[in-house]
Amino acid sequence: MSALEIVQLEVGLLQNLCEVIGCSRTGQAALVDPAFEVDRLLHVAEQRGWTITTILLTHTHDDHVAGLDEAALATGAVVRCHPVEVEVARRLAPRVEAVADDEVIRIGDGELRALYTPGHTPGCVCWFVPEPAAVITGDVLFVGSCGGVSYSGSDPAAMVDSLQRRLGSLPEQTRVYPGHDYGQTPTSSLAWEFANNPALLADTVETFRAYKGLPARG
Ligand SMILES: [Zn+2]
Ligand SMILES: [Zn+2]
Repeated sequence: MSALEIVQLEVGLLQNLCEVIGCSRTGQAALVDPAFEVDRLLHVAEQRGWTITTILLTHTHDDHVAGLDEAALATGAVVRCHPVEVEVARRLAPRVEAVADDEVIRIGDGELRALYTPGHTPGCVCWFVPEPAAVITGDVLFVGSCGGVSYSGSDPAAMVDSLQRRLGSLPEQTRVYPGHDYGQTPTSSLAWEFANNPALLADTVETFRAYKGLPARG
């Protein structure tokens, strides 16, 4: 396994962050959450001589898949997402395959691992890149905050488990690439987040619900 190159772009009017992740030796690349401005995302790959063979989704909220039909058509790439998101993704792209929890996806000489992280939606996936240590968190974790848990299918207790147990199991130097540029910086590290982010400092369901302004269960 060798290191992948990660290029982050901010697109659209909702401060969405997307990534193009490539293997410089083979030119194989993945595109994460083709949200908006697909031409700019494809241009990143073209500039580097990369071919996008895989499109990875963190979840299928509209602001993360608004450009999926265009990106799938332009690249012919296979779309990978959580099983509960497959139906929505298939309305936008012809080639969609569910990913299993902890499944490893090869991109050239590098790899990514799917982490099921429900809570914001039931089908949220964070994508961990072991080399260089990085995690693409979608709307699960933002720099200094986290995604909402008041959507249809949201589950605050699952969110706490995803944040504490799943993301907490990754190396602390792991670079965090969130789905929106809502923090002081576009990326950070898990070490910084676990030390400073109130969404992670609220490490029980009760304190997390209070952080989110949700009524205590009772
Ligand atoms: Zn979302
Ligand atoms: Zn979003």
